[in-house]
Amino acid sequence: MKLQISNLNKTYKKGAVKALDDFSVTLTPGVYGLLGPNGAGKSTLMNIITDNLNADSGEVLYDDKNIKKLGKDYRSVLGYMPQQQGLYDDFTLNRFLWYMAALKGLKKKEAKEKITQLLETVNLTNTAHKKLGGFSGGMKQRALIAQALLNDPKILILDEPTAGLDPKERIRIRNFISEIAEDKIVLISTHVVSDIEFIAKEIILIKEGKLVSHDTCNNLTKEIENKVFEVEIDKEELKYFQENYRVSNLYHNDKKIIVRLVTDIPPENHNIQSVTPTLEDLYLYVFETGK
Ligand code: ADP
Ligand code: MG
Repeated sequence: MKLQISNLNKTYKKGAVKALDDFSVTLTPGVYGLLGPNGAGKSTLMNIITDNLNADSGEVLYDDKNIKKLGKDYRSVLGYMPQQQGLYDDFTLNRFLWYMAALKGLKKKEAKEKITQLLETVNLTNTAHKKLGGFSGGMKQRALIAQALLNDPKILILDEPTAGLDPKERIRIRNFISEIAEDKIVLISTHVVSDIEFIAKEIILIKEGKLVSHDTCNNLTKEIENKVFEVEIDKEELKYFQENYRVSNLYHNDKKIIVRLVTDIPPENHNIQSVTPTLEDLYLYVFETGK
């Protein structure tokens, strides 16, 4: 099974905004993290992959067939959790899931089993009879994830599934995604590195609509080996370092400050130590430019 995203271009506002710029990548079963800051083009890409938006040019192929031609056959293997959804605030969660199950063409018995199981998985069984309008952000996110899974999708597209979740909920959702990913193509967008750092087989970095690179977390962080340092500085120097370097972390140590920097050229005349890069360091290196 593969999903081939091929040379996608998309502009908005009559060409004034370029949201995707010749974007290509091929996905096979496993979890992919689509990582980039706000405005990078993640949602645009996902809307095109799920056939909710037309690209200006380029195509998406599912097992070598154009998804536009597959139509219903493609939608039946697809699960999509959009970033924003006018949730049906007056619906109870149960009614919402039954409604979505009907839209996806599930039979009654099938729907019943699936809904019971999914409510359990997303930890919302006890609130199934409550109206969505009264749900917290995290509960809404979990309700949306549940609906994306109703049809047991082969391709699962999750647009910022952990936005608004507290750390405990994040971990729960992350582990859950990891569990269900077997035999599926799962694409998760986020600007939070820890959401995908340990569960993604590949990280796809997107910047201003362009593919920066895609690889395993290990290989990506290798790209900045010998570019990450811990430097001991005086308090008075902090402002200078923050203005001139990508500072990924800092902590106070007696009268000194230790800053963690991602830089091509390490500062001189300081007590510095080269450290092992993390995906967060890479994120800074790629997205915090001009330093
Ligand atoms: P992300 O999901 O990574 O935050 P988006 O795909 O939402 O990025 O947006 C990419 C770019 O396209 C941004 O500059 C955004 O402002 C612009 N954009 C997105 N949707 C629209 C739209 N419907 N009309 C005009 N501009 C849009
Ligand atoms: Mg988005």
